[in-house]
Amino acid sequence: MKNLCSFIIFICILSNFYTNTFAEMIKREQVEPTGQVVWEVPTKKNLIALTFDDGPNPTNTPQILSILEQYQASATFFMIGDRMEQYPQVVQQVVEAGHELGNHSMTHPYQDEVGLKRKTTELTRADQILRKFQPNHRRLFRPPGGYIDDALLQEVVHRGYKVVLWSYHQDIKDWSMPGAKVIAKQVIQNARHGDIVLLHDGGGDRSQTVQALKKILPALKQKGYQFVSVSELLSHKK
Ligand SMILES: [Zn+2]
Repeated sequence: MKNLCSFIIFICILSNFYTNTFAEMIKREQVEPTGQVVWEVPTKKNLIALTFDDGPNPTNTPQILSILEQYQASATFFMIGDRMEQYPQVVQQVVEAGHELGNHSMTHPYQDEVGLKRKTTELTRADQILRKFQPNHRRLFRPPGGYIDDALLQEVVHRGYKVVLWSYHQDIKDWSMPGAKVIAKQVIQNARHGDIVLLHDGGGDRSQTVQALKKILPALKQKGYQFVSVSELLSHKK
């Protein structure tokens, strides 16, 4: 009897593991034409969207804000709800500087860590906090790690959200601290019209990202690029 119980528990854990881990990711070729999920925005205009994830952070975020201001750049910050509650004054600073906020869940659980119900709650709880800062703003969601399956996409769309991922050639992995020069070089060299660039202002020491931005902004500005929020970029879709 005891063995049977253990076996059943084992099967339950295993099936839960499989459901969470191997739920199929959305397929780009299927969802991109619907406009529900965005990787980049085809446009002829010299526009680029810088995005910053995992903040707000009391050290990194204000430093990034001051560089953005220096180059009249707008950006989108995909924030974690828990951190917004912890540092509301930093969120306020971002909003007052004219930038855009996006939803990056409440506690940043990865795909294989939680089920659909919890992911949906994470979205709606973070939404409630976001609304306090940008009540009528377009709803943009970036799933932690970029993982999203069809079931979660349905929940996200149902709540009036658009999913914003990023240009694959602009995934610099700044969080892995490859050096400010490497980060800057890759963003500058890879830049194309309508790119959505993935960078991070939260989750640890982001001094390299801050240093890289001091190179990225003047270099791309010189190439004629204008830095806009994701919403602004979306309005220029071809
Ligand atoms: Zn993240």
